[in-house]
Order: sequence, then C-alpha cells, then structure tokens
Amino acid sequence: MFLRKRKKPLPLQTIDAIISRLPASHKKLPLLRKQAAFYQKGYNGERKLDYHLQMLPKEYAILSDVTLRLNGKACQIDSIILTPYAIFMIDVKSFDGNVNFDTKLKQFTRSDGEKLVGYKDPITQIENAQFHLIRWLQNLNLSGLPIYYFISFAEHSTVFTVTGDARSIEKIVAYVDEVPLRIITINEQLKITNQNNNPLKNNIITRIMNKSEDFQYNVFQTYGIQKSDILTGVQCPSCRTLGMKRFTRYWRCMKCTFCSSNAHIKAIYDYILLFGNKIKNEDCRKFLNISSRGTMRTLLNHAGLTLMNGSKFWILDQSIVNEK
Ligand SMILES: [Zn+2]
Repeated sequence: MFLRKRKKPLPLQTIDAIISRLPASHKKLPLLRKQAAFYQKGYNGERKLDYHLQMLPKEYAILSDVTLRLNGKACQIDSIILTPYAIFMIDVKSFDGNVNFDTKLKQFTRSDGEKLVGYKDPITQIENAQFHLIRWLQNLNLSGLPIYYFISFAEHSTVFTVTGDARSIEKIVAYVDEVPLRIITINEQLKITNQNNNPLKNNIITRIMNKSEDFQYNVFQTYGIQKSDILTGVQCPSCRTLGMKRFTRYWRCMKCTFCSSNAHIKAIYDYILLFGNKIKNEDCRKFLNISSRGTMRTLLNHAGLTLMNGSKFWILDQSIVNEK
C-alpha cells in the first residue's frame, strides 16, 4: 500500500518553470533542456517501479521519494518498503545501453556502443544510504528491523554485466518488474526465522512521514542564472506566449486571442518555485503585470494561497505546489 505517493520531482518542476520564462536566446537553455530530459527520464523510471510495487500485498507499506536529514546531511531514497520483519530500500536507475559493475575497483560504467562513461558507483551510493538510514533510526531509538536494498533498472534494454564478484551483484541488482517478488521472497523467509514487529514498523512509518522533507532546489545557484533574466507575465496556455492581458474575470492572449479564467495559477506557482513559498501582493503584481491590489488578492486566494496572520506574506502549502 502506498502511504507516501511520488510527486513530480521539485528540480524538474523548477527547471520546467524556468525554461518557460527565459528569453529564447538564453545561453543556459540547451543545458536546462538536457537536465529536464534527464530528470524526466529518472521520474519515468521511478513511476515504472511504482507500477510494479502495486502488486505487493497490503501489509507492505510503500513510501516513495523519501528524504531524511541527519546532522544537516540529506539523503534521498527512491522507495522504502516496510513490513513487520524488514525494511527494503530501492534505488531506480534509468540507463540506455550496456552497464558494467566492477566489484573490485568499485567502478560503474556505461557504454552506448561508442563511448564509455563512468558514473558514481550505485553500490557505494546505496550502501551509504543504508548507513544513513541505520544511524537515522538509531538516533530515534527505532533500530531492530534488518535493512535490505536493491538497485533496480527501469528498462530491460539496459544490459548489465559484472567484472569480479557476480553473485554479490545479482543478489541486489534487478529489473523493476522483478523487485516485488524479490522482496516477498526475503520477507517470507524472515517470517520463519524472525519475530513479527508490527509496532516498530508503524513507529518507523510515523517518523518517516513526519520527518521526510521535500528536496529543496535553487535553480539560480545550480545553473548560474540571474534572477533578472526571468521574464514576467502570465503565459498563454494555448500558444505559450507570455503577457496575457487581464480583463474582468479572465485573461486574454494578445497574440492568439485565447481566453482563460485561471492562467494566473501557473504564473503564481512559477513564482513560488523560482523565488520561494512566500509572496507579497506587490511583488506578485509585478510578476503577473497587473495593477490592482484587490484583483491580486482575489487571484492569490483563487490559487489556494492564504495571507499569513499579521504579515504581508501569502503562502501555499508546499505539498500543493508539488501536486499540481
Ligand atoms: Zn496565445
């Protein structure tokens, strides 16, 4: 059962927002488009895993896209599955071509037939994540369940080979459609040898649900883009041109004449993704190119924001932004 559902990753939402608001000639656009495609591919792979995890029986609690912070360091895990007997961590990899694990050199390479590219070793990465989770649980006095992990490939077209200890890799590497059965097999074995620890399972779930945070993303810093490069205005949902004009109760595109009653919602969400989840009426008016304070108030309300008590700031629950 999914207890924490996967959302479109914040970096992807943010890059999509900034791409729609940079001049067509901006020199960072090719890089941003490449990054958006990279994140989209990863997201598609994770959703493929989710599709297969649906077949797990109800007692398997599935938490997607979990970020846990320990001593200021954040660790992101694609999926965590809990049973009364164990915890399973799953990392999803979406690669084209052939990949090779070298267990002696701890190297991971990918070849597309022409060139060979080295990546961070997924085994070392997930071992570090496991260590992070062990210490995170210890800090909360929630140790006791054994932790297993899998690296799963989203595509069967990814062919993996091993240099060195093949058995150790085969135990933890699988295609996404094989993951549920692998988990069930281990869990059934544990049912014979270990005690049912449902209260501990439930305690851990509660803590993860309360403590997990959404990964923050500063697109300006990451790509060296100036805030002044961002184009303002409401975008036409039909032809994508910025600068729709506000009439009473609707927006009209001056280029293609398309009319919309809610085109401001994307503009307000773009503002939140790029500049943060706290908006002043006057700043948002500049961003949407409207003059009336009262109209702006109505539009902010309509987009689901609320005015913080005793302040000038409007805020939106981050979870709503992510679900848009
Ligand atoms: Zn238009």
